[in-house]
Parts: sequence; structure tokens; C-alpha cells
Amino acid sequence: MASEDTKDTVTVGEYLEQQKSLEEEAGEVLPWNFDRCTYSKGHLRQAVYACKTCKPSTGSGPGGVCYSCSIACHADHDLIELFNKRNFQCDCGTARFGGSACQLEPKPQDALNETNLYNHNFEGRFCWCKVEYDPEREEANMHQCVLCEDWFHENCINGEKQGEKNFSLPDLDNFEEYICRTCTSKHSFLKPYKNSHMFFSGQTVRKNDGTKEKDNDKKSKNDQLQVETSASTNKRKLDDEQEIDLKATALPKKTKGDDVCKLERWEPVKNNIDVDLFCIQNWRDELCRCSKCTYLYKSHQIEFILQEEETYEPPQDDDAHTSLFDSGMKLLAQMDRVTAIEGAIAYAKLRDDLVEFLKPFGDSGKTVTEQDIRAFFESKWSERKTSDTNSFF
Ligand SMILES: [Zn+2]
Ligand SMILES: [Zn+2]
Ligand SMILES: [Zn+2]
Ligand SMILES: [Zn+2]
Ligand SMILES: [Zn+2]
Ligand SMILES: [Zn+2]
Repeated sequence: MASEDTKDTVTVGEYLEQQKSLEEEAGEVLPWNFDRCTYSKGHLRQAVYACKTCKPSTGSGPGGVCYSCSIACHADHDLIELFNKRNFQCDCGTARFGGSACQLEPKPQDALNETNLYNHNFEGRFCWCKVEYDPEREEANMHQCVLCEDWFHENCINGEKQGEKNFSLPDLDNFEEYICRTCTSKHSFLKPYKNSHMFFSGQTVRKNDGTKEKDNDKKSKNDQLQVETSASTNKRKLDDEQEIDLKATALPKKTKGDDVCKLERWEPVKNNIDVDLFCIQNWRDELCRCSKCTYLYKSHQIEFILQEEETYEPPQDDDAHTSLFDSGMKLLAQMDRVTAIEGAIAYAKLRDDLVEFLKPFGDSGKTVTEQDIRAFFESKWSERKTSDTNSFF
């Protein structure tokens, strides 16, 4: 434990002065209660954090944990924020985490979330370029694809990073969501939406058709499905799959009346043209819901595209002392004692005591040091040890 007092000092008075902005800031960082793991809620679209510190013993790749576990069980670990991932069950304390227990909810010994999908994001790599994300150094805007939920650099989307700028992205204010070209190739019936007024689009003509995107997600379920729904019985490579269009796919017979497919208005898009879609507000209303298209969404397992998805958020944390508490948290994060005090459930319960403890510092403008915080916790620690009951908190 480092003992340079000066390095780790924080003036509580400063925090109090900036109470409002700090609270907003803290609210952004830790907006929710973190006292419950989402595991028992099953598969949800939720904020997911990959942990680089917890190495899986099973030989599998790194797992992901829910918001609460990211704080309560992995607060001082090397976490990667993956933002929202659909259909994800928290891995904390499962076999993927090699036996380290979840502080919030015990999991069955052999628990393994087999239907979770993992990709390079869980290694901290994003985009087609698979560059490791470094929040300190990353300057380019990134966009999350609605379908694959990977994140892409603007200069990778428009080709600039590869030395050839193929198009300009629309202004950020002008679109709401993004669908990447890998996904429009995988689900090629989406490509013609480039003609719709509800989408801006970027086009890239593939020169060496068939070599560009070979490495992407070959194993995903959608790929397999595309193979299944294709009229061809041959196993296809990803590159060929874009040939699957409305005609090549076994479709239900068209019914009469108003079941007209919107896509028929537009020219089919050539296979060697990659399409990035930038979706403007209410773009989902534009998606065709004819029987053909409904069938396609279903067979490609992308029905979720039709409605804005529900994303789980833990209950709001409306403790008024968030900013002050957060300053304590920052100091705590620098102490190896933290792990000894059983993670952040303990912090949450200690919150009131800690705020009380910090108040005199705030009132007098005195500086609170790591030493002070340590003394506070040590006194709490010994209180606990001498107590028979669970009255520590
Ligand atoms: Zn969890
Ligand atoms: Zn961890
Ligand atoms: Zn946990
Ligand atoms: Zn990139
Ligand atoms: Zn995508
Ligand atoms: Zn249609």
C-alpha cells in the first residue's frame, strides 16, 4: 500500500462546492442501485461489462457481468464497458469466472450461460479493425450497430482508415442508429432500405469480392439460419450469403390484397455493394411488415429490429449524497483493503456512515486523505470483528 499522503488527497470542500455538477457526473457514472445481480432475471438486454482480471479457468473466453456485479464484485478489476448486449445473462460467479463467487447472488456450481453470445468485444476489441479500445486514447466517434451490437469507428465505416474514403457519414444530429455493412450483407433483404427516405446510406463497392469480410462471426446463429433458409443446399461461405435475397429464399406464397412488399419499389442491390445504413428517427416504422418480410425477420432471428428493444435498467439510485459518496469511492478504489471489505455491497451499506464521517471535512474545508479513509474502515473492521452479530453495518 502506498503511503504518499499528498498523492491521494482530496478536498471534500471542493466536492461540496461543485455539488451539483458532481452529482450529475456521479449520476452518470453510477446512476443505479447495485445491490442485485440480474442473473435470476435470465436473459436480458442490459449493460454488460467484460472483466479482464477474472480469467476463466475453463479455457473459454472472458465473460461479462451485469452493472451491479461490475461494482459489487469487480470494482477494482480491469473492466471493459461493452454497453448494451441483448439476450445476455450475467456470468459473475459462473463456471466462466473460474470459481470466483458472486457477492450478490450465489450461482449453481456448474452454471454456464450457454446461450450468451461472445465475440471480440469481450477481449476489449471492437469494430472490423479489432483494435483494442482505449478510452484514454480513442478519439474517433464510434457507432454501435443495432443488429450485431459491435461498435465501429467512423473512419472504418467510411473506409478512411483503410486509405480510401468511400463516403461521408451524415451529421450526428441527423441519424439515430446505425446498421453495419456486415449485417446488411448477412441480412441482404435490408440493403434496399438505402433507397428509403428514413435512412442515409453509405456504399462501398467490394473490389476483390469475397475476400473482405471473411473473418467475421462465421459461427453466429444467423449464418447457419441463412444457410438453412437458402434454396441452395450447399454450405455457403459468408461471402456468398449475400446472394440470398428474396428470390433465393424459400418464402411463403404471396397473399392477395394489401400484403404488398415495400421492397418491390426499389431496385435490388448488387451483391458486391456493401451498404451501411444510418437510420433516422422512427426508422422502424418504415420496415416492411408484409408476410414475406415478416418471415425473413423471423428466420434470420432479427425480429427484434421491428420494435425499439427493452433494455433492463436497475432501479435508480436516488441517494442525495451521491457525489460525496463517490469521492469516498474514488479513494477506496485505490486501496487494496477494498477487496477485504467484501466489495461494494459493503460500500452501499456503509454509505451513510461514510457520509457522516466525511461531513466534518467538508464543513471545515479540511483535506481528507487516504489515511483518514483507511482509519475509518479499520475502525469499522475492528467493530465487526469484535461483534458477534451482523451489526457491523
Ligand atoms: Zn450480475
Ligand atoms: Zn473480475
Ligand atoms: Zn456478482
Ligand atoms: Zn475500426
Ligand atoms: Zn452489425
Ligand atoms: Zn416486405
